[in-house]
Amino acid sequence: MNNYFIILASGQSKRFNSNKPKQFIWYKNKALFEHSLNKAIKSKLFKKIILVVNDKKQIQKKYSKNILIIKGGKERSNSSLIALKYIKKFNPANVLIHNAARPNFTIKLLERLINSLKKNKASIPVISSKDSIKYKIKNQLFNLDRKSSYLTQTPQAFKYKDIYDLSINEKNKIQDEATLFINNNLKIKFIDGEILNNKITFREDIINTQTYFGIGFDIHRLIKDKKLYLGGIKIPFHSGLKGHSDGDVILHSIIDALLGAMRKKDIGTFFPDNKNKFKNIRSPKMLKPIINILNKNDFYINNLDINLICEQPKVSKYRKKITNSLSNLLNLDKNLINLKGKTVEKLGLIGKEKAIACEVICSISQ
Ligand code: ZN
Repeated sequence: MNNYFIILASGQSKRFNSNKPKQFIWYKNKALFEHSLNKAIKSKLFKKIILVVNDKKQIQKKYSKNILIIKGGKERSNSSLIALKYIKKFNPANVLIHNAARPNFTIKLLERLINSLKKNKASIPVISSKDSIKYKIKNQLFNLDRKSSYLTQTPQAFKYKDIYDLSINEKNKIQDEATLFINNNLKIKFIDGEILNNKITFREDIINTQTYFGIGFDIHRLIKDKKLYLGGIKIPFHSGLKGHSDGDVILHSIIDALLGAMRKKDIGTFFPDNKNKFKNIRSPKMLKPIINILNKNDFYINNLDINLICEQPKVSKYRKKITNSLSNLLNLDKNLINLKGKTVEKLGLIGKEKAIACEVICSISQ
């Protein structure tokens, strides 16, 4: 296991519109570079892991002595050369060089790369392009044949001695280490890369992954001579829910859960119950403007989980109908909606069929 892992985290992030260098941006609860570092540690495939940064002071956390933190160079190729020189004293057999901006590779990929070095001097993960590629020479455009074009990823795996010799002798700026093999007409083994192992280049790449949660709760008293509405549909029952509106506890809880996830206060802010114009309003009408806010801000719902708390009516009897109605109102696949029934052992107002309560949790992404 004479393997070494170099993580390049010293980029300038020119394409990344932020004050913080991209590799230190928070992504899925960690600094971006930590995803690569943690996976390399967890894999137990490496004798040492070398983290190359602009400024060693940027790393606050204490890591074990197998994690070496060094200062990089001006360009990517300078940084990888500095790291390759630095580990020479350990006499490595294999080295993997990785860009910290790719946090989503799997440990399986690391294993496949190292395995591939048994028979090859250089092993590079590639995927084919989903988009057609054109390139321009002077003013003429050419089509690249998609089947014979490869998009190269990292980590890239090398026999240490070969990549060290090539790097030492390279005078030009290079984009990745595979380039050195190609420029010198040396054989590279291409192995299947991973679609999810994409590079985070733009701020939008990260914003896309933000997920939020919201919680909603509601309770209404049951009274005679009122229709019962749950989840936007009429349910045959001896009583209905008292309220300024139709008292639909499911929709009210959903509205509060969505507003909570969007951090837009609560249902009372949008529909004050001292306003006459909202008297006897049907709850689907209240849901509509909330869905509009959701759409306008490019949020989408991942899922909803609902607890309807009542002795009667039995949820199992109306589950399908209510779920279908919610699916229509929310324009959401019904497989993403879960409705549970919960009784309260005949305790209190709810147990005596004098009230119905509901709680909802939702997850949304932007
Ligand atoms: Zn309500």
